[in-house]
Amino acid sequence: MPLIVQKFGGTSVADTQKILGAARKAIRAAQAGNQVVVVVSAMGKTTDHLVALAKEISDRPPHREMDMLMSSGEQVTIALMAIALESLGYKAISMTGAQIGIKTDSSHTKARIRSISTDRMRTALNAGNIVIAAGFQGIDDDGNITTLGRGGSDTSAVALAAALGADECEIYTDVDGVYTTDPRLLAEARKVAQISYDEMLELASLGAGVMHSRSIEFAKKFGVTVHVRSSFTDTPGSLIVAAPESDAPVTGAAIAKNEARLTLIGVPDKPGNAMRLFARIAEAKIATDMIVQNIGQEGRTDISFTVPGNDLAATLDVLNINTVSEEIGAEQVDYQKNVAKVSVVGLGMETQGGIAEKMFRAVSQKMINISMITTSEIKISALVSWSDAIETLRAVHSAFQLEKTPSKLNSPLHSPASNQSASNQSEWSKKPVKPELDVARLSRMEDILIESIHLDQTQARITMPNVPDKPGIAAEMFERIAEAGIVVDMIVQSCGRNGKAIITYTVPRTMLDAAIDVTKKLADTWRSDEPLYNPTIAILSVRGTGLRSHTGLAYRMFKTLADGGINVNVISTSERSISITVNNAQGEQGLQLLKKEFANEMI
Ligand code: ADP
Ligand code: ASP
Ligand code: MG
Repeated sequence: MPLIVQKFGGTSVADTQKILGAARKAIRAAQAGNQVVVVVSAMGKTTDHLVALAKEISDRPPHREMDMLMSSGEQVTIALMAIALESLGYKAISMTGAQIGIKTDSSHTKARIRSISTDRMRTALNAGNIVIAAGFQGIDDDGNITTLGRGGSDTSAVALAAALGADECEIYTDVDGVYTTDPRLLAEARKVAQISYDEMLELASLGAGVMHSRSIEFAKKFGVTVHVRSSFTDTPGSLIVAAPESDAPVTGAAIAKNEARLTLIGVPDKPGNAMRLFARIAEAKIATDMIVQNIGQEGRTDISFTVPGNDLAATLDVLNINTVSEEIGAEQVDYQKNVAKVSVVGLGMETQGGIAEKMFRAVSQKMINISMITTSEIKISALVSWSDAIETLRAVHSAFQLEKTPSKLNSPLHSPASNQSASNQSEWSKKPVKPELDVARLSRMEDILIESIHLDQTQARITMPNVPDKPGIAAEMFERIAEAGIVVDMIVQSCGRNGKAIITYTVPRTMLDAAIDVTKKLADTWRSDEPLYNPTIAILSVRGTGLRSHTGLAYRMFKTLADGGINVNVISTSERSISITVNNAQGEQGLQLLKKEFANEMI
């Protein structure tokens, strides 16, 4: 018998009428011949209210007690949902995370799922029940209740679908699908028919709050088809599957409004410095992003990175001048609150050039200054001030014509379970979802999975120090470079000293001379310093799933290389890869060290 998991978010169960409405959707799925597991969130803004209550008493409530408190929200909804189903004449049974057997680690408020027992759910389903599962919660080995992080019910739902081998996981929410950007921010956002796991994972981790990013890690790892749709209508929503909707270079844009930038100025440029910094931050389970280590000058370098605004205080605690900064010898710690990160994402970026340039141009035409830039194969992020955030998003959305349906659409990989047709499957559908995994093969469901470790020795690096920090700089630079037919791979821009920017990028070695030429001319025009370059660098990349959300991974990479005496230069992170540049002579040694370090996580 087919099995379907349906998840209803907070707004979809905000009152008893809505709970009855959700119950009817579950009944319809059951009547269509499916076994049904319903995962629910807390009603409306319950979780926010619970958090506010705790904050009325204490600024730093113990995390264990926060989990005890917050998990109560979902417990209310499961009971009401089961009561609703019974009242409509259906057999139902509610279960907490502990009753199901959702085992997690013990990191309270940010717990990761280790395993899910399906026995109790199967028995209840086979006895003709609709099973109602509490989202967002689990239990650790000592019997403590844990929660998975805000928005974590999506992750519960997709993880349950993976563990049960469900045919589909439906995410019912207050929008009718996944849009090219948050439709509440831009009215011109367009609903996509389908989006790939990689793109959705990236968008979610860059701020598209429609899905909890870790849920997409599960979907990709275990090949779960996710259907995001409206709780309030019956229109088909968007499918999250292996194949992208089209070959367009950019398929979505995301905004993370509440970010903070930190810069450690004047760090001695020695192996191990970055490692020590990120080790401390990772231990505090803070997700760092946009990490940029500038090319060292006079033996010192600056390291800039962003963290979620809510983690700024905790990050500053970690960086406390007396501990880390002194230990790593930074001259100064600088930070900026109220910055926003605007990102564009698309699988097509891997094969199509000129995307970064187009994005920077769109932003500069609005006279908006970009203070930091990072790129990876399928995303480009720019940091702007809070007040410029929406305008930046609009400019970028329009530059890539995201409001228009792409002219050539890929045929859908899966149709929604309700009208599946085997004949209408594209090339993508014949490819197994990569990596295709058996739940039982993974000792811990949310462990990091590394697909490959790669050494690229074809690139050279150029750095433009002391560039004026004003709108249009990056746009002009990458426009000139594109005009010269030069293909750029990694780009990072960060804040240097005295309000100057530093831009570093990599190009194929064969194009280095041409790139130096262009860059020198720009340096003359801008009256900035001569470019610095390294004709032979090596890029080491670790590729896998959900790399950024596993906060310790970048740290392990740095530590492994530092222990081998290898210094890290440019860093680029995304959900599916972390790349760093090192000196060419140390590339092969670095590759071997990383392969050894990650041997257990390789699939
Ligand atoms: P739920 O409570 O159902 O989990 P959320 O509030 O977590 O709902 O997620 C739905 C919201 O996500 C929408 O109301 C929308 O504002 C926001 N959102 C952000 N980015 C996107 C996007 N790309 N597509 C659709 N919705 C988005
Ligand atoms: N109720 C939890 C929250 O508000 C989990 C969720 O809704 O996904 O974060
Ligand atoms: Mg949500």
